[in-house]
Amino acid sequence: MIWLRETDSTNEEIKRRAGEDAPDGLWVVADRQTRGRGRRGRSWESANEGNLYMSLLLRPVFPKESASMVTLVMALSVASVIREMTGLDAKIKWPNDIVIGGKKVVGILTELAFDEQGSYYLVCGVGINVNQRSFPVEITETATSLLTEYISITTEKAEGTETARIDRKQLAECLRERFKADYASFCKVGNMSELKASYEALLANKDAYVRVLDPKGEYEGIALGINNDGELLVQKAEGCVEAVYAGEVSVRGIYGYV
Ligand code: ATP
Repeated sequence: MIWLRETDSTNEEIKRRAGEDAPDGLWVVADRQTRGRGRRGRSWESANEGNLYMSLLLRPVFPKESASMVTLVMALSVASVIREMTGLDAKIKWPNDIVIGGKKVVGILTELAFDEQGSYYLVCGVGINVNQRSFPVEITETATSLLTEYISITTEKAEGTETARIDRKQLAECLRERFKADYASFCKVGNMSELKASYEALLANKDAYVRVLDPKGEYEGIALGINNDGELLVQKAEGCVEAVYAGEVSVRGIYGYV
């Protein structure tokens, strides 16, 4: 795990190093990013140095068609580690975000690229709002941090909250270990079957109404869970069940983000 003061984007940093034969399992962590990215060209606010901006290089042997499931594996690992370390009720918003109390605390961006030999590799980027206490106006309503949520549930909050910090290094190391174990379970079978039950137990929208923002047409239904390929199963009013593939689609709650 390499720690940097600053980089443009830890995903880009991994891609540069992948071109120089960096090994499977390399993590790059930065104190801040100057061009943090979300899905489909959106940006990830990355100026605050109390957070984690980290990316992992994977050189998988499974077919590249299975790559989108790595986002789900990472989401499960991140949510589990947050719950264990802080006791906070972190939930997964399928496919790539972690939320607490309906607000986003983690974003995950998995990208697929090819090396010079033509083999594919994956870059799995994770942005965790750890110690940040205030956010830019565009995201104040939708973003939160572990520390903010932790302080809001801590009863003896009168003393020490101004200087309280969550240990980023410990969190990063716990995540590395947890992902290693979850990824091994995934690789053993090449799908989500072994992790499905744990994933669904943390799924924020499970059994709730959702709106599927599909470029081919939006629709609403009840999110039942995921299938072994990591697609979200949504039951429409007519009764039929759609398997939603993460690619171009976003999912929202009926009344808000979750
Ligand atoms: P989708 O459901 O399609 O993933 P999304 O809005 O969650 O949609 P992402 O690409 O996952 O999109 O994340 C980028 C978005 O997250 C930005 O457009 C912004 O709204 C929000 N965002 C950016 N930086 C942060 C941050 N540090 N913490 C929380 N939210 C952020």
